[in-house]
Amino acid sequence: MDETFINKIKSAAVVGAGGAGFPTSFKLNAKPEYIIVNGVECEPLIQVDQQLAALYAPALIKTLDIIKSNLNAKYAVFAIKEKYHKAFESLNKEVSKYQNITVKTLPNAYPMGDEQTLVYETIARIVPEGGIPLNVGAVVVNTETLLNIGNALDDKPVTEKYITVNGDVKNPKTFKVPIGISFRELIEEAGGATVSDPVLIDGGPLMGKVQRNLDASVIKTSKAIIVLSANHPLIIAKERPISSMLKIAKTACCHCMLCTEVCPRMMLGHKLRPDKLMRLASYNSTCEKDAAATEAFLCCECRLCEYGCIMQLQPWKLHQELKKRLSQAGIKNPHHNVPEKVNQFREFRRYPTEKLVRQLGIAKYYHNDAPLSEYKKEISKVVLSMRQSFGAPCEPIIAAGEKVKIGDKIAAVPNGALGADIYASIDGTISKADKNVIIIERG
Ligand code: SF4
Ligand code: SF4
Repeated sequence: MDETFINKIKSAAVVGAGGAGFPTSFKLNAKPEYIIVNGVECEPLIQVDQQLAALYAPALIKTLDIIKSNLNAKYAVFAIKEKYHKAFESLNKEVSKYQNITVKTLPNAYPMGDEQTLVYETIARIVPEGGIPLNVGAVVVNTETLLNIGNALDDKPVTEKYITVNGDVKNPKTFKVPIGISFRELIEEAGGATVSDPVLIDGGPLMGKVQRNLDASVIKTSKAIIVLSANHPLIIAKERPISSMLKIAKTACCHCMLCTEVCPRMMLGHKLRPDKLMRLASYNSTCEKDAAATEAFLCCECRLCEYGCIMQLQPWKLHQELKKRLSQAGIKNPHHNVPEKVNQFREFRRYPTEKLVRQLGIAKYYHNDAPLSEYKKEISKVVLSMRQSFGAPCEPIIAAGEKVKIGDKIAAVPNGALGADIYASIDGTISKADKNVIIIERG
């Protein structure tokens, strides 16, 4: 592999733009057979990647081909949903100019963008329990990450972010903005909230986190902000304490196994059985010799089990807690089975997104158009968090009072640690630089 290729991606501080923000230079330091682009965007209401694929197909496919040659991969597959007609048209036209790059369309089901589900749907290989796509010869990159890799190869560091503003706002939109801009400014640019008690979900409606601070700022992994009323059932469900959920589960869980039957990881053949762990939490027994709390490590927290459950219980919350406690006790995932085949009913149990949005109470926003629009207002200040990606937080390498220009490096990962540096996203003067944030003010 060409070292310059990886170094350019590292220097530009590219991280996964859609999930945990794993540094891309580490991910691409591999020898896969397949490169898979995750353009599925399976969380409803987010409209970033589908628009990028439609608008920037030539640049994206060119970069994909460069990655394919540098990693010596045999094939590259750009996966999107079959309903993204514009993206399909643009991508399909481009891939015909290259060797062994194809576009794969997938049904409108959740969680089609879960990395392990995506790998199976795209190349029919099952990632082992607790494994990563590379275990079956694949590396997965997100569409926006691919765009950032293209920029990195032109020596442009990551300073901007694409983000959809949807839900209870006057004009749902998708913007390209400097990293560090506040959610409040984005909501105002989308015409303002249409509810008097707005609360945000930072991310998709399912896996995103509730954010009550409207002044929190955009980081490298932000993808959407969903504005809802504080009384919206989705907000209430997300914030319900695990203790009250488990109290209800003691009497309400009827062990029907519906949570297990919808679970995308169980459907891939992994031994994850949320119904057993709910039984364990309720009765201190799984009633099965081979079931253990450590199965929680196999959960990707997609939250589908909550919507499969007729009692609206939340096995995912229990798994989240179990993972935390087991890790604190120094216990690691002991499950590494390699399933030979997926569940025989998998194909018939894909969970339709249309059904899910009705259950989530967000059907009225589902068909909103959130077009990519220019952010018009002048940005006077950005607040750059020192924790923007997976790995160690960054440390400022500038001090208050210094002047910076867009693209100047202002914070670096500690020597030898995993992480990604941070660059100035506007021209201006540093008004604060500490271990938590760097603030740049224009002028
Ligand atoms: S679906 Fe709900 S009620 Fe049924 S086993 Fe799972 S948690 Fe219990
Ligand atoms: S959140 Fe629920 S449905 Fe999703 S992987 Fe975990 S147990 Fe399965």
